[in-house]
Amino acid sequence: MKKTFNFIAIIFVISSIFLACGQNEHDVKEANSPFNNPYYSRTDTNHLFVSNVEWKKVLSADLYAVSRLKDTERPFTGKYWEFNQKGTYYCAACGNELFQSDSKFSSECGWPSFFEQKNKKSIVFKADNSHGMLRSEALCGRCDSHLGHLFDDGPEPTGKRYCMNSIALDFVPLSVLQTIDNSMHLDTIVLGGGCYWCVEAVYEELKGVISVESGFSGGWIANPTYKQVCSGTTNHAEVVRIIYNPSLTNLNEILKVFFTVHDPTTLNRQGADVGTQYRSVIFYANENQKNIANELILELNKAKVYSNPIITKLEKLKTFYLADKEHQDYYLNNSEESYCKMVIQPKLEKFEKVFKERIK
Ligand SMILES: [Zn+2]
Repeated sequence: MKKTFNFIAIIFVISSIFLACGQNEHDVKEANSPFNNPYYSRTDTNHLFVSNVEWKKVLSADLYAVSRLKDTERPFTGKYWEFNQKGTYYCAACGNELFQSDSKFSSECGWPSFFEQKNKKSIVFKADNSHGMLRSEALCGRCDSHLGHLFDDGPEPTGKRYCMNSIALDFVPLSVLQTIDNSMHLDTIVLGGGCYWCVEAVYEELKGVISVESGFSGGWIANPTYKQVCSGTTNHAEVVRIIYNPSLTNLNEILKVFFTVHDPTTLNRQGADVGTQYRSVIFYANENQKNIANELILELNKAKVYSNPIITKLEKLKTFYLADKEHQDYYLNNSEESYCKMVIQPKLEKFEKVFKERIK
């Protein structure tokens, strides 16, 4: 209790600067949203027996079409076909480890190609006679989801080409893997506090935060573009997805940061940014998160921390759509830009002042 009121006293006296969010037109790609999916686990290797009715509830429409209905994404469109980062590829439906980036090679086919699967059990095969061809269909060894096909025209040493759909893969960079102990339990929360560039930059600095990604949630359409979201007609909010280690931070602290770096009292507005896409919103994944958020809001309102009541919405998280890569780490990559200096930097400085003991 005492801690909370110290926090309240501090944020009470520090004012904020809220200006317009710069708007570039970039498409967004749908994230595979593993954290909305109860079947997703990078550590559990038990075979899954899940019906398509159930998969349909937890996978995005695009992933469901490929994984469960054996659709093929258009060549040269997937996010991993021309992608060379070091890391590990998992099944986007279930988290089963499929490939190491070392086994990936550039192929002309327009789909991500690998010459070797992670281990014997990671991928299984089935004869596929569709489209008048005799092909070998590649399926996830844990959940039987369709991944792509296997061909015999790959490079040495195996001569194989695993031709995969990008959307069926979930890539985790080596840098992130190195910070994650596989036995460690991680939590995730999705928050909207106006321009996601600002919110992302702040959480990147908080101890215990493993990763922060900018994206969109809470709208009416799938795969929104940045332009569509900025038009304010899709009901998507600009959000960040924060993955954190609950032994190093917790949801309460993350929400206190949230209420410090944005104005939770202005409906559909942060400074000059106006529209439902800038609404103050907490996308909870379960009742526990909802309760923690509710309690903190009650406490802040009761203490009259802000001159107006908090209007932050609590919405049930459905799908998180990852924004285009130009929108990720925006502050880090554009810190000399005037928007970053005028809008993001003051928020960061405020965060650093209030939470100075908690900076990485
Ligand atoms: Zn799988």
